[in-house]
Amino acid sequence: MPHALVIQVAVPAPLGRTLDYLPPDSGEQPAPGMRVRVPFGRRHVVGVVTGSDTRARVDGGRLRCIQELLDDTPILPPDVLELGLWAAAYYHHPPGEVLAGMLPTPLRKGRPARRRAADCWQLTRTGQACDPEQLRRRAPRQAAVIERLVENPEGLPTAALANLDGNWRNALRTLHAQGLVTPAVPSVSAPRAGSAPTLNAAQCAAAVRIVASLGNFTAHLLEGVTGSGKTEVYLAAMDAVVERGEQVLVLVPEIGLTPQLIERFNARVPGRLAVLHSGLAEGERQAAWLAAADGDVDVLIGTRSALFTPLPRPGLIIVDEEHDTSLKQQDGFRYHARDLAAVRARNLGVPLVLGSATPSLESLHNAVTGRYQLLDLPRRAGAAHPPRLELVDVRGQPLEAGVSRLVLARMDQHLDSGGQVLLFLNRRGYAPVLLCHDCGWVAGCPRCDARLTWHRHARRLRCHHCGHERGVDRHCLDCGSTDLRDVGQGTEKLEQALNKRFPDAGVIRIDRDSTRRRGAISDLLGRARDGGGRILLGTQMLAKGHDLPGISLVAILDCDQGLFGADFRAPERMAQLVTQVAGRAGRRERPGEVLLQTHHPEHPLLEVLLRDGYARVARTMLAQRREAALPPHTHLALIRAEAVDAEAPSAYLAAVREAGESLADPKVLLMGPVPAPMERRAGRYRAQLLLQAATRPPLQELLGRMSPRMQDLPGARRVRWSIDVDPQEMF
Ligand code: ADP
Ligand code: ZN
Ligand code: ZN
Repeated sequence: MPHALVIQVAVPAPLGRTLDYLPPDSGEQPAPGMRVRVPFGRRHVVGVVTGSDTRARVDGGRLRCIQELLDDTPILPPDVLELGLWAAAYYHHPPGEVLAGMLPTPLRKGRPARRRAADCWQLTRTGQACDPEQLRRRAPRQAAVIERLVENPEGLPTAALANLDGNWRNALRTLHAQGLVTPAVPSVSAPRAGSAPTLNAAQCAAAVRIVASLGNFTAHLLEGVTGSGKTEVYLAAMDAVVERGEQVLVLVPEIGLTPQLIERFNARVPGRLAVLHSGLAEGERQAAWLAAADGDVDVLIGTRSALFTPLPRPGLIIVDEEHDTSLKQQDGFRYHARDLAAVRARNLGVPLVLGSATPSLESLHNAVTGRYQLLDLPRRAGAAHPPRLELVDVRGQPLEAGVSRLVLARMDQHLDSGGQVLLFLNRRGYAPVLLCHDCGWVAGCPRCDARLTWHRHARRLRCHHCGHERGVDRHCLDCGSTDLRDVGQGTEKLEQALNKRFPDAGVIRIDRDSTRRRGAISDLLGRARDGGGRILLGTQMLAKGHDLPGISLVAILDCDQGLFGADFRAPERMAQLVTQVAGRAGRRERPGEVLLQTHHPEHPLLEVLLRDGYARVARTMLAQRREAALPPHTHLALIRAEAVDAEAPSAYLAAVREAGESLADPKVLLMGPVPAPMERRAGRYRAQLLLQAATRPPLQELLGRMSPRMQDLPGARRVRWSIDVDPQEMF
């Protein structure tokens, strides 16, 4: 029997491994990273080739042929393919789903990966520096093309070159090959050179360390207080990378929430810039992705999935606001973009920069143990001073829509002296509870263990967990009484109270409800910056690094939730949120003041946070985590199950636990199953099983042996289950 070539293909299906196929009848050679169309059950699907081998014996009756090759060169280069397969193994997620998820949607569906022939051109930075006169004698047509492009910095359509004499197409091709011109892609903008401030000593030192590490893997943690000028450090490092002819990848949490950051990059990035995020149309997204993969982008900025973009000349990876939870995907393929960025940077041999004013305890731990280099920006840039934090003890105090007299008085002072005020309340809607005064009934969600929030303006009761909504009840559903009252406050009620108390100040509310329209957040922040509203109030959307120069007073109305949360990360999140919100105050010459309302002024965490700041409190929490054997000192995985039937999830997880224990690894502790903190959500009961180990290898090994068996355990078909490695949320 002749030797046969067998091709491994990752197909987008819930399979823990790749499938074997025979090469296509056409005789073409599929290479790793190429997309292929393959028969799968009764359907045909688009898969990605991951490898091949020759076998002496192949059961020809069982193996099917690849039907069609969709690429003639690998769409996923080796490093990206390797990253995807590594991530699939680490997160115990089906490799075919991981690889499919790395591609822009049209490519995932099997559309051709060809870029439309470039019909618009512009100069690169090298091209801009090139003097056409010097070229004129040697290459007159190239000089003519450059001259035309100089006159049209935003890009010139190919058709507009057609009236040049001679073979201008050849000239254009040569200039492209030399890196002097580049196709102008709709979502790629031309190099700019906005003026940069002179870096201060700390910024300079940080930039120098990063630049010195170019060409090698080093992970840097840029810990810079709010307003210390981290973005300027990124820009300086980018300059050096682009100068070397290499590409920079920048991951940011949520582009929609930080329009200003993108504007700033747009004005300053020294090379061709593309932005990748979910707000783009499919075609735009694919164009930017392919341009980056072809090397026609110098700086790519994107949200977490941009991490998987192929880059032929990678030079540096930056993760901004590395503590932000949106870098972790919370469903499906539950990966952490920050952690995978470290893996990719190491594989590529390029430096990684993680930046934050409030680093995650994971990254801080890596810095403290010397695995990451710590770059410290301890002071604000320019003339700005750190804000002054003060606790406001509200025990027994009268509150007006949740605001104490002291805060109101300070607001008066700041508004009178021309300042702007920011109030932070992390609860949207009018009131979080609607209560019957006669019998104590509260309006609850029929699908969750949760209360409905009253949205007064919309005249709806809404569940913030499952999206259920209904009209506002007029009668108690238990006793029929009409005496229904609202309890507690949301941003809507606060807005109403502020408008009444400060009728001339102009109140701007920023939360998910007020920013549904595209561009709304830009408009509202713009109005706040222009002084069109002097009181800004909102939820955690306000904690996202906005630069609001006029804010002189910040009041955080309720930070107590974070002190007693069920999740062991609650205090860390609270400290990050408070510090980020506080960081909006006093970003220019005017000194800033921050007030924290609390019922627990003696709480030790608040005390340390106020006295010594985030850097200190984070190190205190890190020590507490060690005592409690919690991450980052130990490693966790969470197996979740949910079902409409109340008993099924726990029963299934009990079977999982039993299977796990039979594989007996004493180094891994199995805890549970227990009901999730909110047991019923969106009509399903949920339970979880926690795995903990002091080091990663035994945990990974156990999961690797358990996961292939989980689908066959008793009860597996009655639940939806998932594995979450390094879970960020414990519900
Ligand atoms: P961060 O991202 O650390 O919060 P930014 O990079 O947004 O800080 O900088 C905060 C403000 O300080 C911005 O307005 C920025 O233009 C300004 N800034 C940054 N570096 C300098 C500097 N070296 N000199 C003067 N102003 C600076
Ligand atoms: Zn009642
Ligand atoms: Zn609900």
